[in-house]
Amino acid sequence: MKVAIIGAGPAGLYLALLLGKRIRDVEIDIYEQNPENATYGFGVSLASSSWGRMREADAASHDAIMRASYFGHHQLIGHKGEQILVERQGDNAGIKRLTLLKILKEHAQAAGARFHYDVRLESLDRFWDCDLVVGADGSNSIVRTCHEAEFGSKSRELTNRMAWYGCDRHFAPPFLIFKKTQFGYFWCVGYSHTELESTFVAECDAEAWEKSGLAHMNVDEQIAFTEHMFAEELGYGRLINNNSIWRTLTMVEVDNWSVGNRVLIGDALHSPHPTIGSGTRMAMDDSVALADAISDNPKDMVAALEKFRRTREPTKKKLVEARDKSILWYENVGAIADRLDPVPFVFDFMTRTGRISLERLHRDFPDFMARHGEIGRSYLEEMASA
Ligand SMILES: Cc1cc2nc3c(=O)[nH]c(=O)nc-3n(C[C@H](O)[C@H](O)[C@H](O)COP(=O)(O)OP(=O)(O)OC[C@H]3O[C@@H](n4cnc5c(N)ncnc54)[C@H](O)[C@@H]3O)c2cc1C
Repeated sequence: MKVAIIGAGPAGLYLALLLGKRIRDVEIDIYEQNPENATYGFGVSLASSSWGRMREADAASHDAIMRASYFGHHQLIGHKGEQILVERQGDNAGIKRLTLLKILKEHAQAAGARFHYDVRLESLDRFWDCDLVVGADGSNSIVRTCHEAEFGSKSRELTNRMAWYGCDRHFAPPFLIFKKTQFGYFWCVGYSHTELESTFVAECDAEAWEKSGLAHMNVDEQIAFTEHMFAEELGYGRLINNNSIWRTLTMVEVDNWSVGNRVLIGDALHSPHPTIGSGTRMAMDDSVALADAISDNPKDMVAALEKFRRTREPTKKKLVEARDKSILWYENVGAIADRLDPVPFVFDFMTRTGRISLERLHRDFPDFMARHGEIGRSYLEEMASA
C-alpha cells in the first residue's frame, strides 16, 4: 500500500506512526512545507479525557508524550475584577507543540515513514500512483482546495480577533480573564507547558479591535499594547512573538470527508476553535479512527474511508456542535459579561456548549461546586425557565 500524507502536524504524524506500525508492506511518504523543527505556536494542552485513547492506540508514543508534559489542573476565571478558582478533577497535559511533533516524528520514522520537508505542494498530480492521499495539511488544506467542489467545502469568517504569544513566565494556575476597557471587551488565556514557558492568547471583539487602534499598529506596537493591557496577568513578563498576528479565524466545513482516494483529517476536515481547546486531540483522534478503518479494510480503500466517516462522525458532530455554541458565546461575550456578576458569569461560561449539566459540574468540579453550587443552581434554573 502506497500512502502520501500532506502535512507533518499532529494529525499527519500520528497517522503515519499508526499505519506504519499496523499495516504490512505499507510505504508512507509525508510532505511538509516547513523546514524540519520549524513550528508556529508554543504549547498545546491535551485533556485527561484523551489520554486513554492515545495509550490504547499506541502506548510507546503516549508514554513519551506524558513524560514530556507539564501537568496542571484548576483554572482562574476573572470577571469584573474578581477571580474565581475552578478546581477540576483530572489534569491537562501541557506540552510544547515542537516537542509533541518531535516525539510523533521520531515514532513515525521508527515505524518506517519517509519525510520530505521544505516541500510545499501546489497540486496533487505527483500522487497518481498512490492508494491513499491524506490531507493532514491544516485549515488551508491544499488537498481540500484542489477538490473544493467535490468536498463541498464552505467557509465563514468569525468576527473576534486573537493573537497567540509565548511568555517567559510560569502561570499557576492557568487563567482566563475578561476585561472591560474604554474600547470594549478584551480577554486573555494563559497556560504553561514547562516550568518556565507559557502560552498566552489575547483576544478582543470586533468593536474593541477597531476602537483600540490595534488594526493600524505594527507588530511591535501590538505587542507593547498587549503587554500593557495585560501587565498584571503577565506578571509584568514579556510576550514572545512567533508569527503572532492578530487574526480572525475562518471556520471551514465539508459535506464529504473523502473524494476518491483523497481523505481529510484534523484541521483540514473540521476547523477547531481554541475556546474549546481540543484541536490537537480531535486531529489525533481522526488519525486513530482512519488507521483503525484502514487496518480493518487494508485491501478496500472505499470501504475503509466509508468506515472512517461512519465511526468517527457521531463524536465529531458533537464536538463541532459544542465548538459552534462556544463560538457564539464568545462572539457575544460583551453583552453576557455586562449582564452577569462574576459567579453566574462563570456558570454561563462553563455551560456554554450545552454539554455540561449540573450533575456533571458536581462530578467534575466538586470543590468549586461546594463554594458556588447554590448560586449556580439558581442561575441555571432561571436560565432554563427564561
Ligand atoms: C490560538 C490557538 C490556540 C490553540 N490551542 C490549542 C490547545 O491548547 N490545545 C489543542 O489541542 N489545540 C490547540 N489549538 C489547535 C491546534 O493547533 C490544531 O487544531 C492542531 O495543530 C491540528 O493539527 P493538524 O495536524 O490537523 O494541522 P496543523 O497542525 O495545522 O498541521 C498541518 C501541517 O500541514 C502543513 N501544510 C499545510 N499546507 C501544506 C502544503 N500545501 N504543502 C505541504 N505542507 C503543508 C503545515 O505547514 C503544517 O505543518 C490552537 C490553535 C490556535 C489557533
